[in-house]
Amino acid sequence: MPCKNCLEKPVIKLLNNEQLCKQHFIRYFERKVLNTINNYKLIEKNDKVGVALSGGKDSLTVLSLVKKLKDKIRVFEIEAIAIDEGIEGYRDKTLEIAKKYCKENDIKLNIFSYKNEFGNTLDNFLKKTSMKACSMCGPFRRYLLNKKSKELGFTKLATGHNLDDESQSIMMNYIRANLEISARLGPITGILKDKRFIKRIKPLYLMSEKEVAMYAFLKGLITEFNECPHSSDSYRGDVRDMINDFEAKYPGTKNAIVTGFLDILPKLREKYKNEMPLKSCKICSEPSSREICQTCTIVERLKKNV
Ligand code: SF4
Ligand code: ZN
Repeated sequence: MPCKNCLEKPVIKLLNNEQLCKQHFIRYFERKVLNTINNYKLIEKNDKVGVALSGGKDSLTVLSLVKKLKDKIRVFEIEAIAIDEGIEGYRDKTLEIAKKYCKENDIKLNIFSYKNEFGNTLDNFLKKTSMKACSMCGPFRRYLLNKKSKELGFTKLATGHNLDDESQSIMMNYIRANLEISARLGPITGILKDKRFIKRIKPLYLMSEKEVAMYAFLKGLITEFNECPHSSDSYRGDVRDMINDFEAKYPGTKNAIVTGFLDILPKLREKYKNEMPLKSCKICSEPSSREICQTCTIVERLKKNV
């Protein structure tokens, strides 16, 4: 079957089974991301948008599209921010891609590392503890992105989260009865009216992983896939496999999980709006629901293990 819009050979079958050629797919993809940005008011006049850049397909796609929009309407600024966890053979490679992209496209890239900020690389920390990689790395990265984005004066932080990521987060929170955490999801965070939290935006919210990968390849943003060696160890990895199995068996599953969730999100936010952290961590002053934040708790535990 040819492309839905012309007689050209299709390059992709979308989640709704429609097939599109290269030209029509790129047009469909860029239009849908732009609509997401407009419909959810992800970027506004005078914003200084920081794009969280890992050098992978999702973040490079976000950066390229936000840059394209910025060059067109010129009413906001962008910079990139990257976190070097210290994962040998993986992050060193993707950081090179990120640096090259930013240099070629004249985008300021700010890099922060676990080594400088917490005293060691993730690889070395993992040698001293039985903690799972992602249980340490996730909080560390969220912490640094929030703290450094504020220091850099960003008004929004754009991430590469796509439809697959969001459907996994929604299911993980359901399975673990963590609906309070789900209240913080969505294309733009909005439950917390607290200046200590940088607003996060997800321009790829409605794009599937497959679509993002295809776009990144067709636009030459990536030439190979790089995956963190720890990604399959995680709970998220199991949930991802489960949803992928369901999607293969019952097409439309991912879309249904996310659109159904968007329907109940306002109610969830209403329910949990007063149950969010308001304290400041006694060690680092970052926002926390406890006296000592999760990141400082892990750092202190690691120090004792030395
Ligand atoms: Fe860190 Fe886990 Fe992501 Fe790897 S998969 S970068 S260890 S959070
Ligand atoms: Zn702290």
